[in-house]
Amino acid sequence: MPFELPKLPYAADALQPHISKQTIDFHYGKHHQAYVNNLNNLIPGTRFENATLEQMIREADGGIFNNAAQVWNHTFYFESFSPAGPREPNDALATAINETFGSFAAFKEQFTKSALTLFGSGWAWLVKNREGKLEIVQESNAGNPLKSGHTPLLTCDVWEHAYYLDYQNKRPDYLLAYWNVLDWDVIGKRF
Ligand code: MN
Repeated sequence: MPFELPKLPYAADALQPHISKQTIDFHYGKHHQAYVNNLNNLIPGTRFENATLEQMIREADGGIFNNAAQVWNHTFYFESFSPAGPREPNDALATAINETFGSFAAFKEQFTKSALTLFGSGWAWLVKNREGKLEIVQESNAGNPLKSGHTPLLTCDVWEHAYYLDYQNKRPDYLLAYWNVLDWDVIGKRF
């Protein structure tokens, strides 16, 4: 059964002015869709015909890994946003962030630094590692921390296609905007 582009839980213009409708139309409507289409074209005749995205992320390499991971990563990224969600963590995740990083502000600073220092294309992640501790990790290209046994909690896409239409080369401006669209209820449920 072919993979499909998941519906967004908000309208394409709902994240403005932080992320424009034009960026959603291209990033979700064109790039995310292209990874879905590529994956559907690559799978037939391979041992991944009935595999889940997670299985392909853990076991595949080359084009199948790249496209399966990009489908998963983008779905996870877009589902982290909402027009009106709480913009700060609560409950158990808030406690864990405070214990690990000192404060939410300190976490934001470290996560932002990780996203800004990631060379080229990739993803910055907040994960729960195998010991149950929070960790910030950088992944290049389509990289996904499931492959290392981590539980992903939050991600930031730093491929230029994520921000170039709105912020051109200014990745730091995109990072500032990013915190204004996160829904920490959604993120907290992953913890
Ligand atoms: Mn992207």
